[in-house]
Amino acid sequence: MLGLMQDHPLLISGLLDFAARYHGDTEIVSRRVEGDVHRTTYAQVQRRAAQCANALDALGLQAQDRVGTLAWNGYRHFELYYGVSGSERILHTINPRLHPDQIAWIVNHADDRMVCFDLSFAPIISAIAPRCPGVRHWVALCAPEALPAELSALPGLLSYEALLAAQSAQYTWPVFDENTASSLCYTSGTTGNPKGVLYSHRSTVLHAYAAALPDVMNLSARDSVLPVVPMFHVNAWGVPYAAALTGTKLVFPGPALDGKSLFELMQAEGVTLAAGVPTVWLGLLNFMRDNALRLPALQRTIIGGAAAAPAMIRAFEEELGIHVLHAWGMTEMSPLGTLCSLKNKHLALSKEAQFAIQVKQGRPIFGVDVRVVDGNGTDLPWDGKSTGNLLVRGPWIASDYYRSDDPSPLQDGWFPTGDVVSIDPDGYIQITDRTKDVIKSGGEWISSIELENIAMAHPGVAMAACIARPDPKWDERPLLVVVRREGSTLDRAELLQFYQGKVAKWMIPDDVVFVPAIPLGATGKMLKNRLREQFAESQSAAAG
Ligand code: AMP
Repeated sequence: MLGLMQDHPLLISGLLDFAARYHGDTEIVSRRVEGDVHRTTYAQVQRRAAQCANALDALGLQAQDRVGTLAWNGYRHFELYYGVSGSERILHTINPRLHPDQIAWIVNHADDRMVCFDLSFAPIISAIAPRCPGVRHWVALCAPEALPAELSALPGLLSYEALLAAQSAQYTWPVFDENTASSLCYTSGTTGNPKGVLYSHRSTVLHAYAAALPDVMNLSARDSVLPVVPMFHVNAWGVPYAAALTGTKLVFPGPALDGKSLFELMQAEGVTLAAGVPTVWLGLLNFMRDNALRLPALQRTIIGGAAAAPAMIRAFEEELGIHVLHAWGMTEMSPLGTLCSLKNKHLALSKEAQFAIQVKQGRPIFGVDVRVVDGNGTDLPWDGKSTGNLLVRGPWIASDYYRSDDPSPLQDGWFPTGDVVSIDPDGYIQITDRTKDVIKSGGEWISSIELENIAMAHPGVAMAACIARPDPKWDERPLLVVVRREGSTLDRAELLQFYQGKVAKWMIPDDVVFVPAIPLGATGKMLKNRLREQFAESQSAAAG
């Protein structure tokens, strides 16, 4: 017997309709590429998303055609999120920090018909356009008078504002199967070609509900949320959808992601929640520390995408009074998987005991099932100690990659995350490593994240990466690559001494290399494979 409930598909257009109807005057504030701050509302976004959809119709784009974007976090990108997906096309967000060769490959693999871009990315468009014959329209996100002169000869060049101005602000969003594809995002794989993750309307709306939950982002119509995490990286962790679902004010930082710019925007717009990767938070933390500043409205910040060092979590909590929610997820998971918030029974614990939980990556959100297994696929106990491979499944987790020649990555219906974790009896997950980053020493595994966290707690360390160095006796040994904090004279011996008593002796890194900077990937994560090439192999050769 089927239930007697109405069958309404979960569609992305419904989120914007809701926000415009019930939160029409709630603001969307954006720092623009031009440098100024622009203000709009959900009601205006709905009108312009409708104009955008009409423009796509007028240009002859078909249902399910891919529309690429190379854009910062801002209101025009937000309009495209809804105008493109709402009208049954697929929004393909592209990471502009990738090499142009990789961007051209992605555009062709996705078979994009149109690419919309912020003016800062005009040089990328110049570089890739001749190699992307399938793209019929290159749409600059600007007024017609601001079209970049360097692209004047580009066939198919259009101004976004001119396109919208020619269209009606009335549009009836089509109704279709909620499992229809809505958006596409390529993982910035460190090896091989990127892989496309194809989200659906259903997965996106369910994920938005989950993101808004109290123990997740706890979003409400009283919040002001600033996603530092880019809209080209897993849909800014779903914030653009969850904010519409809850009528939350949105604040978009555009290209200005330095500590000072973020601080000023957060202060001016009363931001109550911000979300981003640890490397960005380091900039804000240092700026606020150096200038003895506070953000009284900012209650909480979500840090994820890479491990947030306990020292950073502590600094936010104790020095700045900002609560940190550590989160874990993946592009293949839309991305939210776990988020670290305490349970009622933890409130009676000491601050230190609470902190020991808070530094973990958190417990699964409803909708995400997890398992931890050994190399043979046998389940390991949830004792907070046994480490193995993390498997996940759920309605917003990928079942396969887009246009992939490889077999589905699923193992008996479970997606292997490639992360090495332990799970405690309460379900809190702690990531010890990526499978490929773990250091295998004498048959034992050493967690690179644990060794980095210790280094990050030293006041002389600004950033630390721990990598495996080939070793004739132990197979691999840990090598620490460190950026000193400005003014620090920290040396190798002092830093290695700092490890005494904090981990077993055999886990202490063999050596420390000081560098001016650690290379970061397109999504702000440390490029450990680059460091391994640079240091581990060359050093061991030298030692040999
Ligand atoms: P991406 O698909 O680019 O977002 O990368 C996903 C990967 O980032 C995960 O599989 C983890 O290895 C890593 N990651 C994400 N969040 C965290 C976190 N809080 N702590 C440690 N690693 C993380």
